[in-house]
Amino acid sequence: MHYLDHAATTPIPHEVAQAMLAVLTEQFGNPSAQYPLGQEAKALTERCRAIIAGAVGCKPERLFFTSCGTESNNWAIQAAVWHGRHTGRHIITTAVEHSAILQPCKWLEQQGYEVTYLKPDRTGHVTVEQVAAALREDTVLVSMMLVNNETGCIFPVKETAALLREKKSRALLHCDAVQGFLKVDCDPVGWGVDLMSFSAHKIGGPKGVGALYIAETLRNPKPLLSGGGQESGLRSGTEATAQIAGFAKAVELRMENLDEKLAKMAALKEYCRQKLLTIDTMVTVGEGTAPHILSLSLPGYPSANIVTDLGSQGICISAGSACHKGKSSHVVSALGLSKRTAAGVIRISFGPESSEADVDALYEALREHKEKRFPML
Ligand code: PLP
Repeated sequence: MHYLDHAATTPIPHEVAQAMLAVLTEQFGNPSAQYPLGQEAKALTERCRAIIAGAVGCKPERLFFTSCGTESNNWAIQAAVWHGRHTGRHIITTAVEHSAILQPCKWLEQQGYEVTYLKPDRTGHVTVEQVAAALREDTVLVSMMLVNNETGCIFPVKETAALLREKKSRALLHCDAVQGFLKVDCDPVGWGVDLMSFSAHKIGGPKGVGALYIAETLRNPKPLLSGGGQESGLRSGTEATAQIAGFAKAVELRMENLDEKLAKMAALKEYCRQKLLTIDTMVTVGEGTAPHILSLSLPGYPSANIVTDLGSQGICISAGSACHKGKSSHVVSALGLSKRTAAGVIRISFGPESSEADVDALYEALREHKEKRFPML
């Protein structure tokens, strides 16, 4: 198999699976239980929190475990609008956020909020000037992703934090860092971001666990789930200890020689870009510079057909975001591509273990697809 869809999810290294297995079968206590087995589980959870917080660069007590990036995003939005309930009902976000931001924003619009969706330019980027132009007295939240999951574009989160400070805005800044964490510069505390979302399964961790960083600026943040009082009373529910252990182990592994891994991924992305662009009519989509995501199009060749054809040969890539199965992606639409180019958009995404052999296999299959398999639109 040639797996080139690491932005959708990643394989779990053996060490991560081992760490999880030990928790599932041996250290399986409930962290709220008072006897040693429970207290060991509690201590393990806190050790894991400290490891992940170390990579985020925040205090462990400001990092809260959730069940996924989607949950972190939903919580961040709820917490921000609650925090700003006496300030106003205006939100700024981008038109190309993940649906885990766009759908909660749509829901808030139905409740009377006004949402400004910043449109990217043809390269896929949004600018801090666009945020400045949209910012109002009654803006309570700016939500901007760190890396776009379809184009690999890096967004100006640091600059947006500086802008909000300079304007003395009361708006909170949330950043969906699900695709950016351990891939590009990410420093919520140094930048002054108020809320930041993470997900384990994009960096070699298991599905079913994420985290939300909540800055000290949010005193008494709105709890997401009320109940037994876990996660400092903010996100009740028995801790998913095995997933948390897997998350921490994945972070530890990724951090080993991280710069080398990222340089390898960036070099492979460039190798792939150059090789695939030798296929007649192939074009790049956007100008994303994150090291792991490459977006291309074979105009006129429906991407769903490409993905299915290649998938049947054991080559896994994606037609835009895996979360938009079958539907044409809102990100591709926002880029203002021609109909034929939009129809043929494919996303290739790399992990530390991806190789030139994977890219070579992809190249051959794409060439064959274009020449023999399917008629053009
Ligand atoms: N945000 C971004 C940018 C993503 O790419 C994804 C998943 O693809 C999510 C959020 C959702 O994360 P999760 O799958 O952990 O819910």
